[in-house]
Order: sequence, then structure tokens, then C-alpha cells
Amino acid sequence: MTGKAKDTNSFPHSHLLGIEGLSASEITYLLDRAETYVEQNRQADKRKTLLRGRTIINLFFEASTRTITSFELAGKRLGGDVINMAVSASSMQKGETIVDTAMTLNAMHPDVIAVRHSDSGAVKLLSEKVNCAVINGGDGKHEHPTQALLDALTIRRRKGKLAGLQVAICGDIAHSRVARSNIHLLNTMGATVRLIAPKTLIPTDIAKMGAEVFNDMNQGLQNCDIVMMLRLQTERMHKNFFPSIREYFHFFGLTYEKLANAKPDALVMHPGPMNRGVEIDSEVADDIGRSAIREQVEMGVAVRMACLEALTLNAPEQDLNA
Ligand code: ASP
Repeated sequence: MTGKAKDTNSFPHSHLLGIEGLSASEITYLLDRAETYVEQNRQADKRKTLLRGRTIINLFFEASTRTITSFELAGKRLGGDVINMAVSASSMQKGETIVDTAMTLNAMHPDVIAVRHSDSGAVKLLSEKVNCAVINGGDGKHEHPTQALLDALTIRRRKGKLAGLQVAICGDIAHSRVARSNIHLLNTMGATVRLIAPKTLIPTDIAKMGAEVFNDMNQGLQNCDIVMMLRLQTERMHKNFFPSIREYFHFFGLTYEKLANAKPDALVMHPGPMNRGVEIDSEVADDIGRSAIREQVEMGVAVRMACLEALTLNAPEQDLNA
């Protein structure tokens, strides 16, 4: 979202900083484009030339396995040159600010930078300092737009639609950028969102985003189509939010017993990395009849290809020739 619009395709934005502000048709456009890449990614020859000559930098100030690999594969499968920078290990330790890092990279003429940072708003700040497209790969507790898009693609493929579905997002809502991006996307696409968490892990004003809040998981899961579990983000917790992991699992861990409250064909999702036995029982997570967790990872590559494609088509001409 945001940035100067150029009418080259149905995603008229220079950056993808969040889901907030995107229209239903823009989200649908990205999902439709991603759908075409799902098939391509299942072929032996996965390579396209759309991004030939383009440079994509994955600038990750926070740890990542899935997301950085997914962006790397997405860029490479479109024929681009991809560089991964895990910044905590280099400049940041020498005291360089995010703005200095952005300016330095900008001088090397990248075409797209995918950024992850522990501060909410840091990715937007960086996007204001560079000439290229910026994709938010997760900023603090704020947004993780490509995660919400890959979740939406997974749901749409399994359920044939997003509108009208009852989606429960469960667990550490307070620290979750995944929850925020998903609330925006699901509301925009006409789904109904329920949030299930202990009182300590749910911000008091979150219902304003358009969701019904439950502190009892059995109640909240009643008749849900989708059960989206979240990781307990202990790295963002600076006090105790629950008495013990054992108690958390007892009340908020997804087991077959609690899942029985949802619709019989309810789909189980998790953005990863999973804490087995903390927010989700291993058997449920690995049940290929119920869980779409591995499919989410597959959809991640296709969605990131669609985002790279859309933003590259929007790039100003002078950048392309620079
Ligand atoms: N991978 C997701 C994120 O970066 C979810 C998580 O870490 O729990 O936000």
C-alpha cells in the first residue's frame, strides 16, 4: 500500500507496507496472480525471466527462516538477483541506524527491498528513504502483509471463498503482526473474525479493528470454518502474561477436543514457527486431513512472487534503467 500510484496494473502502489488500506479488488488481484505461480512452482522448470536484471535485497533485522527463504525463492524463480542480509549480524552491531543502512543499500540501486524489523513502523520509515519498492516482511507487532496474503490464498483454495467464513485467530494476539494483517484482510474480504486469547494477551481496543473477542476457547471456536493458531511471542514479552506453559496449553492450546467445537471440516492453520505442545498439539498440527500448515508455506512463495511482480510493474522507468 501507499506511495505514488502508477496505473500500470491493478495494484497501483509503490510499496507493500501493510494490508490496511488495500481494497478487496487489490487483494484479489494479488491472490489471482499468486494462483498462477502455484502451478508454475509445481513444475520441474520453475524459472521465469520477469525480474531478469533486477536486484532484490532481503534485509532482515530480525531472525527468520521461512519468510526469508520464501522471498529468496520468489525472487529467484522470477529470474531476479537476490541478496540476503541478516543485519543484526553486521552493521547494526556497529551502531549503524536503519536510515543509514537504507541509504547505503539505496546507493547500490536495488529494485525491491523486503524488510523485517522488530520496531513497528520501521519498514515505513525505510521506504521513505529509498527509491525502490519496499515490502514489509514483518515490523514489530504491526503488520506482516505477505503472511496474511498467503493465509488468504490457502483459505481460498481450500474453501473456494473468503467472504462469509468464520475465522478464529487464537493465542498471542497482543504481540502478533500476523493477527493484525489478517484482521484487516479478512474484514476487507467479507469474512467474520473472532479473536480468542487470555485477557492478558489481547489489547483492550482490538475489537475496534472489527472482531469479536473471546476468552474461552471452546466458546470462541463454535462453528468456525478456520482455526488460525498463533505462536507465543516470548521474545516480545517483558513480563509474565500467563502462569505457566502447562496452564496456557490447557486453556488455549489447540487439541482435538477443543477443535471439535469448530465445524467438522474446519481448517487448522499456523504461520510458524510452531511451539508444539504450547499453542498446538503435535497430532493436530501434523494431521494432513485438518491442517493446512505445510500448504501455507507453499503458498508463501507464490504470494511473494505475485507481490514482487506487482511492485516491479509499478516501478518508475528511471529506476528500471538506472
Ligand atoms: N513468522 C511470523 C512472524 O514473523 C509468526 C511468528 O513468528 O510467530 O510474525
